[in-house]
Amino acid sequence: MNKVHTEIVSTLAELYPNAKAPLRHRSVFELLLAVILSAQCTDARVNTITPLLFPAERACEPADILALGEDKVRAIIRPCGYFNQKTKAIVGVAKATLKTGIVPSDFDALRALPGVGPKTAQVIQSQWFKIPAFPVDTHIHRVLNRLGIAHSGKNRDKTGREAKAVIDKKYWIDLHLQLIFFGRQTCTARKPKCGQCPLAHICKWPDKKKFI
Ligand code: SF4
Repeated sequence: MNKVHTEIVSTLAELYPNAKAPLRHRSVFELLLAVILSAQCTDARVNTITPLLFPAERACEPADILALGEDKVRAIIRPCGYFNQKTKAIVGVAKATLKTGIVPSDFDALRALPGVGPKTAQVIQSQWFKIPAFPVDTHIHRVLNRLGIAHSGKNRDKTGREAKAVIDKKYWIDLHLQLIFFGRQTCTARKPKCGQCPLAHICKWPDKKKFI
């Protein structure tokens, strides 16, 4: 890591020393369903829906989802959008994990579950199993390109590859969450707070002048 990378990592660690996964969950199974629901939906909305989907008194298990059945699951998760696809994925994951009894930590085994794409698999690896992974969402993609760590246009996979090439693995898990919070609170898409940004002096984004 060069001096700039080190400064970015340490500044974000100071800003968000205890960054926690924003999706509420009590088990890896609940986290997986919440991440599936979060595609094209805000975490805040997912957090209002999962209490309706999961039992109140204990962590949700695959059998609870199968007992609800597709129609009830679809009705509950409707406000999250893409509810037909998400219902298939949620019920499919419940069936698959009921058989095996576990949510796997291995990337390929996670990807083999219905509706689990590379980003979801990496979020589970990183946020639950603490396996270094660096999933790139819209906030991370934007922030890393503005800062000049990535130069990837619209290609989020390239952003992940470029970031992983220069940031030490030991920082990936925390940095992933810190960048999401920073992208939501400071380096927002439309009105970034460049005037108050602690990284403004190293940020490479030419348009930052308009927001200072
Ligand atoms: S200066 Fe502006 S664009 Fe650059 S990282 Fe900070 S908030 Fe984002």
